Amino acid sequence: MPIVSAQIIDGKAIAETVRNQVAVETQRLISESGIIPHLAAVLVGNDPASEVYVRNKERACHKAGLKSTLHRLDATINQAKLLTLVHALNSDPDVHGILVQLPLPKHLDSMQILDAIAPTKDVDAFHPENTGLMLQGRPRFLPCTPAGVMKMLELTGVRTAGKHAVVIGRSDIVGKPMAALLVQKGIDATVTICHSRTADIGAVCRTADILIAAVGIPKFVKGDMIKPGAVVIDVGINRVGERLVGDVDYAAASSIASAITPVPGGVGPMTIAMLLQNTLTAARLVQKRSQAAFTH
Ligand code: NAP
Repeated sequence: MPIVSAQIIDGKAIAETVRNQVAVETQRLISESGIIPHLAAVLVGNDPASEVYVRNKERACHKAGLKSTLHRLDATINQAKLLTLVHALNSDPDVHGILVQLPLPKHLDSMQILDAIAPTKDVDAFHPENTGLMLQGRPRFLPCTPAGVMKMLELTGVRTAGKHAVVIGRSDIVGKPMAALLVQKGIDATVTICHSRTADIGAVCRTADILIAAVGIPKFVKGDMIKPGAVVIDVGINRVGERLVGDVDYAAASSIASAITPVPGGVGPMTIAMLLQNTLTAARLVQKRSQAAFTH
């Protein structure tokens, strides 16, 4: 039977549910231990999109009762000075989570900066130690965007076990960790990763029960790349003139898929919600360490 119109997976509403849970658990942590989860964000330069992202993250922290501070640095800052700031935040006991907003100006070595963040404060979960723990199925923090997608699938009731999930994109931030989470025991999807060298990508996508697009090309996924009844998750955020559009041709896809995320209002809000969750987790790690020290 043809699908008339896909269920819209409302990322804003799901993110609000997550943020409300974080707010409740934050209050509990504060009343138990006096620890206020604290996110320190570092913004280098004044890229307008980064400014918006950082502002939204700060606002979400405050709304959920977390503390957030912003360290603004000039675009001309050198590697050594930025590293000095990261080391200072690493050793500040009042800071639980550190976020360096990407992209950094071209003259800076992003990987060296991200690697310098203490793994226990790495709330973006980009550090190789956290990537390794995630791959082994014993995560400390989960990378925010893929974790947000997993939360959406879970709270929408999408079954993953035995399903074929196709992820388009193999970046370290989205595609690879997305595939890694889908293949974990308990999630149990069968996963294919596509990239710019994949042959006949349309044919591969048409076999997906769950199709996740993280390409960075507006409307890359056309209607004829979608299996009827598939669940389509659009991670893409592309600015086209004044508008934000996803990686999926939404109008075409929504008459073929059984469920789909919109852009904006889909995966984007989930990323911020999971960042709050990770910052709370980081503060709980400090609580656990101080409890362990007390009992020994
Ligand atoms: P990225 O690092 O540029 O990676 C893009 C991936 O897409 C690469 O693996 C690339 O393949 C693949 N690709 C490019 N052209 C392709 C083609 N013609 N056919 C098949 N695959 C192709 O981007 P990203 O950081 O993963 O981000 C992807 C999108 O998600 C962007 O729109 C970004 O803005 C958005 N995003 C959204 C959120 C959110 O919160 N919703 C968070 C992060 C990113 P190769 O590896 O072969 O080059």
